[in-house]
Amino acid sequence: MSVHEECGVFGAFSARPFDAAKMCYYGLYALQHRGQESCGIVVCDDGLFFSHKDLGLVSDVFTKDALAALPAGTMAVAHTRYGTTGKASRANCQPIEVNHQKGRMAIAHNGNLSNAAELRSALELSGAIFHTSSDTETIAYIVTKERLGAPSIEEALSRAMDTLEGAYSLILMSPQKLICARDPRGFRPLCYGVTPDGVYVAASESCALRAVGAEPVRDIEPGEILIFSRDGIASMRGHCGKEQKKLCVFEYIYFARPDSVIDGQPVHEARIRAGEILARTHPVSADIVIGVPDSGLDAALGYSRASGIPYGIGLIKNKYIGRTFIAPEDRAGQVNIKLSAVETVVKNRRIVLIDDSIVRGTTSGHIVALLRKAGAREIHMRVSAPPFLHPCFYGTDIDSCDHLIACRHSAAEIAEMIGADSLGFFPADRLGELAGSDGFCSACFDGDYPTDIPSDTGKDRFEQRLSERPARGERYETSL
Ligand code: AMP
Repeated sequence: MSVHEECGVFGAFSARPFDAAKMCYYGLYALQHRGQESCGIVVCDDGLFFSHKDLGLVSDVFTKDALAALPAGTMAVAHTRYGTTGKASRANCQPIEVNHQKGRMAIAHNGNLSNAAELRSALELSGAIFHTSSDTETIAYIVTKERLGAPSIEEALSRAMDTLEGAYSLILMSPQKLICARDPRGFRPLCYGVTPDGVYVAASESCALRAVGAEPVRDIEPGEILIFSRDGIASMRGHCGKEQKKLCVFEYIYFARPDSVIDGQPVHEARIRAGEILARTHPVSADIVIGVPDSGLDAALGYSRASGIPYGIGLIKNKYIGRTFIAPEDRAGQVNIKLSAVETVVKNRRIVLIDDSIVRGTTSGHIVALLRKAGAREIHMRVSAPPFLHPCFYGTDIDSCDHLIACRHSAAEIAEMIGADSLGFFPADRLGELAGSDGFCSACFDGDYPTDIPSDTGKDRFEQRLSERPARGERYETSL
């Protein structure tokens, strides 16, 4: 079950004009699971930029008229956002567009910089003015500053990468080029492909390449800068191999769509494996295995296969839920409208219930109550992530320890709190079996952070700082 996600980026490039906006629209649809707060598309037509962006889902923001108003072009960049830094506001919608001394640029970013606060305050002290509270603007600022002394936009980006720390998968558009970059640790995914008509497409996940009829070519490597231009494709690898790869393991557990393949590993297979491992590390006698739709389903299948306990569909998710007016705090309301139990499947049964993760524990408590009400006899919850014990600074919305139930309670205590008969978490020391052996970040589970971590960690840290200066705060929030 999911309420929050993070961001998705998408871009398309061709030597000849095409309906780049429509391609981005389909691409964003396939990336909607990565962020539902806002979305946007910027099209480049003969060096001029045309954009549309707003708060809301892709289907709400891009009406027929809004799409039709965007011209054909040779390239476009697009973004769907779940804000991990900065409030939901129009000013924070991406792609961010900037005009600078050498031209214009649009930039879409997935991830979180771990040194955003330091970089931003250094820029502010040198006179920079920011319009948004998102760290993407900091990246844009540094790239445009570097551009003054660099021979090309990609060289400026490469120089900027010397100072950026943390997670960034970027798609950047200049009037002539579409440029992709992945931070040297590769925290967030990024890949590219090509359509039969020769349009190059880049996206956070391969599911979005397929959605526009593109064949995936490969992942952008950690540290790589890939440039699409009229001259063809070029790759700059000066930052490759500088750091050990640290792909976020939670991409495999929860974020990514199961039909995506990240860094060569199919997400669906990783989730099946998670379920199989759980079946071996936390076996139990039961009649049926059910998954919480959608993110628990694949692991439930894996648990069923490895344990021999039949797989069943015990929970149904309302597909038409979209955005509800239920307050985020009203988790019970959210669960009731999103999920219902199939009584004939669960009544009088001993159930293994699989979900991808427990954060605060509220969702699981409501799901267990839902199943009990439908007559479940026993409920053994198995979770395909280890307990969250540490906040994430790289783009996953995992808050401070105060809001993480596993920081304060053992599995047995949590089982009691959520009303389950037993509870088992995925073993943290086996995460490598999900993410592959070439390196991954699991800091939210083990506290082993690959970078220095910020001292000022709130997701609305820029707003907080502004509100400490109420007389001037208002002027910083502009709307597009
Ligand atoms: P909670 O009620 O706080 O325990 O929320 C747990 C649910 O939130 C799980 O079912 C997950 O699918 C979902 N979830 C886990 N991690 C995240 C995250 N970083 N952002 C959003 N949703 C999450």
